[in-house]
Amino acid sequence: MWNKKVRFILLLAVLLLFGFLFTSFISYFTAHKSISTQLAETTLPLTSDNIYSEIQRDLLRPIFISSMMAKDTFVRDWVLNGEDDEDAIVRYLKEIQIYYGTVTSFFVSEISRKYYHSSGVLKTVSKLDKQDRWYFRVQKMRQEYEINVDTDTADRTSLTIFINHRVYDYVGKYIGAIGVGLAVDTVQKLMEYYKNRYDRQVYFIDKQGIVTLHAISYTDEENIHHMKGLSRFAPKILTSPSSSIVYKKDGKKYYLNSRLVPEFSWYLIVAQQEDEAELRIQKSLTINLGVSLVISVVIIILVNLIIAGYQKRLESMATTDKLTGTANRQVFDVLFRQVHSQSKRRKTPLSAIMFDIDYFKEINDTYGHPTGDVVLKTLAQTITQRIRESDLFFRWGGEEFLIVLPDSDIDRACRIAEKIRKTVEELVITFSGKSVSVTISMGVATMLDGETSDHLVARSDEALYVAKKNGRNRVEPPCPDGHNKQ
Ligand code: GH3
Ligand code: MG
Ligand code: MG
Repeated sequence: MWNKKVRFILLLAVLLLFGFLFTSFISYFTAHKSISTQLAETTLPLTSDNIYSEIQRDLLRPIFISSMMAKDTFVRDWVLNGEDDEDAIVRYLKEIQIYYGTVTSFFVSEISRKYYHSSGVLKTVSKLDKQDRWYFRVQKMRQEYEINVDTDTADRTSLTIFINHRVYDYVGKYIGAIGVGLAVDTVQKLMEYYKNRYDRQVYFIDKQGIVTLHAISYTDEENIHHMKGLSRFAPKILTSPSSSIVYKKDGKKYYLNSRLVPEFSWYLIVAQQEDEAELRIQKSLTINLGVSLVISVVIIILVNLIIAGYQKRLESMATTDKLTGTANRQVFDVLFRQVHSQSKRRKTPLSAIMFDIDYFKEINDTYGHPTGDVVLKTLAQTITQRIRESDLFFRWGGEEFLIVLPDSDIDRACRIAEKIRKTVEELVITFSGKSVSVTISMGVATMLDGETSDHLVARSDEALYVAKKNGRNRVEPPCPDGHNKQ
C-alpha cells in the first residue's frame, strides 16, 4: 500500500513537472523565436528607416540653400558683370554663412577660376591641384548638384555635408559652382540615442567597409573586415543594397541590418545584441519554472493529504464495526498483540470479558430488526463510556462482544463486568415510542502464563456459556466479594 502510494505520488510529480517544463520551454522557445524575428525583421529595419529619413531631412537643408544661391540673380549678374567688386560676393557668402549657420560657403567662377569664400578670395582653382579636383568634376557633371560628405578622419562622430551646385547664366551657360558645407548633428544624436536607450549600435561604413561615422561611445573596429564575427559577412554587406545578418561574437548572438545610402554611397548599419530581449524572456522562464515548481509541490502535498485521509478512512472502515462503532474481529489479533506485549513488559495481568445479550432474538421478533439495531448501538455506546481508553472493545459476533482489559486481574475484570452488567440492566432504550430493556450474560477470564489469545477467548467464552446456563444476566465466574446478582 505504502509502496503503491509512493509510486503514485512519484508518477504524479513526474507528470506535473514534465507538463510544466514542457509548456514553460515551449512558451520560452516561441517567445525567443518571435523576439528574434521581431528584432531582425521589424526593430532593426525600423531604426534604419528612422535614421535614413533623418539623413534625408538633414540633406534637404544644404541642398535647398545651395540651389537658392545658384539661382540668385545677384550672383549671376555679378559674374556676368565681370566679377568686379570682390567684396560684394564675399559679403554675400558671409551673410549666407551667418544666416544659415553653415560651416562654409563658397563660389568658384568658371571664367576667373577664383575660389570665393566667406572669408575672402582663397585661391585660383587649378586642374593640377589635387584639392581642386572636385571643381572639375562638378564642371563636367550632368546633374544639377552633388553631395559630398566629409568626416574628419580623426573624429568619426561629426558629419559635414557639402553641396556643390552648378550655376548657369540666363541662357543656360555654365558659369561656376556654388554651395555650402553644413554640419549635421541630428544623425549623431540619433545614433547616441539608440545606443543609450536600446544598446543598439548604429554606424556608417563606406564601400570599402571603413567606418565613416559613428556614435561618440562607439568602441569597435574602424573597418568591418576586422570586426570579430562580422568580418566574414563583409562581402555580403558591401555587395547588396540591403541585408539582414545574424552573427556571433564572444558567444553572444548579434542581429544586424544594413542598407545602402545612395546619396553618400555609404552603408547604414544597425546592430543589436540579442541579450536585452533575451534576458526578459529568460526571466519569465525562471518565474514560470518557479511558479510551476510551487504549484507542483502544493498539488503533491494536497494529493498526499487527500490520500492519507482516504487511507485513514479506509483503515477505520476496515477495523471498525459500522453499527456499534466498536472494533471488529478482524483487528483483534493486531490490537491484542500490542496490549499483550505491553502487559508482558510491565508484568501486569490481562483479562477478558465475553458477553452476549440475553434473548436478543425475542427483541428482534417483538420490536423488529431496526429496534434490535438501536439496542445494539446504544448498548455499545453506553459500555464504551464505562470502560477505559486503554481497554479494547470488539463486536465479536452478532450480539456478542469482547472486552480486553489490560492491567486487570480476574477480580478487577469481574468487578468491571458486574458494573457493566448492572448498567445494562438498568438501561432503558427508547426508540419510536417504545421502551426496551435488555440484560447480558458475561464470562470473565484472565490470561495465564504460556497462553495465547485463543485460550483467553475460549475460556471467557466458556464462562459466558456457564453464565447462560446458570440463568443469564450474570457474570461467571462470580465475583469473590459476592457482588454478583445471585
Ligand atoms: P441467548 O443468547 O440468550 O441464548 O438468546 P438469543 O436470542 O440472544 O440467542 P441467539 O444468540 O441465538 O440469537 C442472536 C440473535 O441476534 C439472532 C440474530 O437475528 C440477532 N442478531 C444478530 N446480529 C444482529 C444485528 O446486527 N442486528 C439485529 N437487529 N439483530 C441481530
Ligand atoms: Mg444472545
Ligand atoms: Mg448470541
